[in-house]
Amino acid sequence: TVRVRIAPSPTGNLHIGTARTAVFNWLFARHHNGTFILRIEDTDLERSRPEYTDNIKIGLHWLGLKWDEGPFFQTERLDHYRQAIQTLLDKGLAYRCYCTPEELEQMREVQKAKGLPPRYDNRHRNLTQDQQAAFEAEGRKPVIRFKIDDDREIVWNDHIRGKVVWKGTDLGGDMVVARTPDTDSEAFGQPLYNLAVVVDDIDMNITHVIRGEDHIANTAKQILLYEALGATVPEFAHTPLILNHEGRKLSKRDGVTSIDDFRKMGFLPQAMANYMSLLGWTPPDSTQEIFTLDEAAKLFSLDRVNKAGAKFDWDKLDWINSQYLHKMPSEELLEYLIPYWNEAGYQIDLDLDRPWLEQLTALIAPSLTRLSDAPAESRLIFGESVNYSEEAITQLKLDGVKEIITEVLEAVSSQPKLSEEEAKSITNQVTKTQKVKKGLVMKSLRAALMGELQGPDLIQSWVLLNQKGWDKLRLQEALN
Ligand code: GLU
Repeated sequence: TVRVRIAPSPTGNLHIGTARTAVFNWLFARHHNGTFILRIEDTDLERSRPEYTDNIKIGLHWLGLKWDEGPFFQTERLDHYRQAIQTLLDKGLAYRCYCTPEELEQMREVQKAKGLPPRYDNRHRNLTQDQQAAFEAEGRKPVIRFKIDDDREIVWNDHIRGKVVWKGTDLGGDMVVARTPDTDSEAFGQPLYNLAVVVDDIDMNITHVIRGEDHIANTAKQILLYEALGATVPEFAHTPLILNHEGRKLSKRDGVTSIDDFRKMGFLPQAMANYMSLLGWTPPDSTQEIFTLDEAAKLFSLDRVNKAGAKFDWDKLDWINSQYLHKMPSEELLEYLIPYWNEAGYQIDLDLDRPWLEQLTALIAPSLTRLSDAPAESRLIFGESVNYSEEAITQLKLDGVKEIITEVLEAVSSQPKLSEEEAKSITNQVTKTQKVKKGLVMKSLRAALMGELQGPDLIQSWVLLNQKGWDKLRLQEALN
């Protein structure tokens, strides 16, 4: 049975790339009735923070990506890594390397002079016991290196990229799998990423490793570690990068990177998850763009994930978001809008105003693209002052308009609270008594109440204004 994982490092907030990888893993797990595991890769003690772990968990939950097992923490599994390192040492597949930073720097220089990437020249592969003892006596602390043979060829059948071939020579020489921390006398106190990942993926019976294509070189190294540890190599799938409009990797410079940023900008979790599932994956019916994660899970397969980078398309994200916003029941949408209204400084008393707020929500919903549009779309209903447009001013100056507004004002003043029917009947009445066209009444009323000739449903807007008494003030103002 399928077992997959998302393995974020808690060195920052939940990143869009990690979240998208999580979406793919989750979809794959659900499609196969498998298990989705959360593993926190916190071995980098200096950069890992518990608040980032919280942010990652909250972000995954927000997106609707529940994990079936975990979270597991690498810092709680150090014994497992130490055991694996001991196994590698015992089998003669790893060794202690005593090179100083200066020596390593020198090797880098030599490579650089030849125009080649850094490479360790395996010089401590075959130290004698006496040589090791001499280095120890000098006070040198070893690292543990895993042997990588130059003539090895590493091949795997990637579920997204097809056949991938790596040569041992391209892996930079024998690789460090553990360091000695200053505080620990043990020779291999601090395991490094590649080793920890492999030990975890073995212990957690991971069947498919689905992760970003930036890990391809790591996969080559990790396959060698699986073999060395006598474990079955899992299947691999490397997802394409997310690119900005310039075709470069989406980064901090694009203004958004963490899922939090998108939430604050006013995207709904359903829309975000929907959009991310399309970042690199094409559903069998490529015209279908709106689906829940559960619906996507039924359709998902890795062979429909693109190799090429996935361009981040803001227009499409906005469009998907608006689809969800327009469909959502008002009482549900209201809950999402409240924080944005609060932030804009509008006084909201849910106990008192819930029906009014739900009607307001229904009124503005069709004009929302992002939740963050709500304050601007509702400011007039909240009683903020009107900015009359040129057309509205012209409209209010037309012949007969003063009379229309005056009569409407008289009619509302004699009514405690307007219903939609009452509002409509006032407009009909005024049309008759003033002997004008209905259009003139409606247009003038809109100009007076909203300061513009276009906008959301006028009768509904009026009724909402009326409940707070704003309509009388506005009609009065329009007469002056
Ligand atoms: N901690 C790694 C990362 O965040 C995990 C990579 C993997 O999935 O193996 O990139």
